[in-house]
Amino acid sequence: MANMSLQKNPMPSQDPNVRNKNFEEVALGYTEAQALDEAARCLNCKNRACMQGCPVMVHIPEFIAEVAKGDFEAAYQIISNTSALPAVCGRVCPQETQCEMYCVRGKKGDPVGIGRLERFVADWHNAHCTEAPEKPASNGHRVAVVGSGPAGLTCAGDLARKGYEVTVFEALHLAGGVLVYGIPEFRLPKAIVQKEVDGLKAMGVTIA
Ligand SMILES: Cc1cc2nc3c(=O)[nH]c(=O)nc-3n(C[C@H](O)[C@H](O)[C@H](O)COP(=O)(O)OP(=O)(O)OC[C@H]3O[C@@H](n4cnc5c(N)ncnc54)[C@H](O)[C@@H]3O)c2cc1C
Ligand code: SF4
Repeated sequence: MANMSLQKNPMPSQDPNVRNKNFEEVALGYTEAQALDEAARCLNCKNRACMQGCPVMVHIPEFIAEVAKGDFEAAYQIISNTSALPAVCGRVCPQETQCEMYCVRGKKGDPVGIGRLERFVADWHNAHCTEAPEKPASNGHRVAVVGSGPAGLTCAGDLARKGYEVTVFEALHLAGGVLVYGIPEFRLPKAIVQKEVDGLKAMGVTIA
């Protein structure tokens, strides 16, 4: 049944008096119950207004429909078809000025918490699916990518999936670009970025 509440499910967060004494992530992520409740706010619109605001054209209503059914892995597969960094984007994408700005539920009340649902789905996948991504068959071509920020990592992932042998050249000691040296731990934990880098390595990408 649709959830016609005008408010988004709030994001569970560390208490201010606890978070002012540590550097851990402030937002804690939806529980399964909150994700199911939030997903039921989506109207599965025919014209998919939300997708107009997504730079990588994530199939938003489709992934939310899978969340509403409780098939979180199917939701993850839909997101990862077009987004290389779901756990990162679910945390630091400016959803309020992108997908959520176009959501029709936002005309009267809060838009659907698309970013919070994306984060939930990515975290659920990372917690439950421990096998490394498969290494695609090589197409015999080698490609160099300069820089391992989100642009380089996305490029490397897309090319690796097509069978290219990719080497990412990074000037700094850690892969991730601004994701690791600019965005603070309390907003984007380094382990989340490292997990995405490890996934690329499992697909055969070399970070040099
Ligand atoms: C403090 C801060 C907070 C931010 N917060 C957010 C946020 O919350 N949400 C959001 O959407 N965006 C945020 N941004 C913006 C976001 O981080 C950038 O848009 C994004 O990182 C750009 O990605 P990129 O891959 O193009 O470049 P970068 O992340 O800058 O990565 C480029 C990489 O290339 C490497 N490199 C460069 N030249 C060479 C070379 N010649 N050889 C080898 N390696 C090289 C660099 O060392 C670096 O690792 C923030 C930016 C900053 C600075
Ligand atoms: S615009 Fe909002 S309500 Fe409509 S499909 Fe997208 S997320 Fe769901």
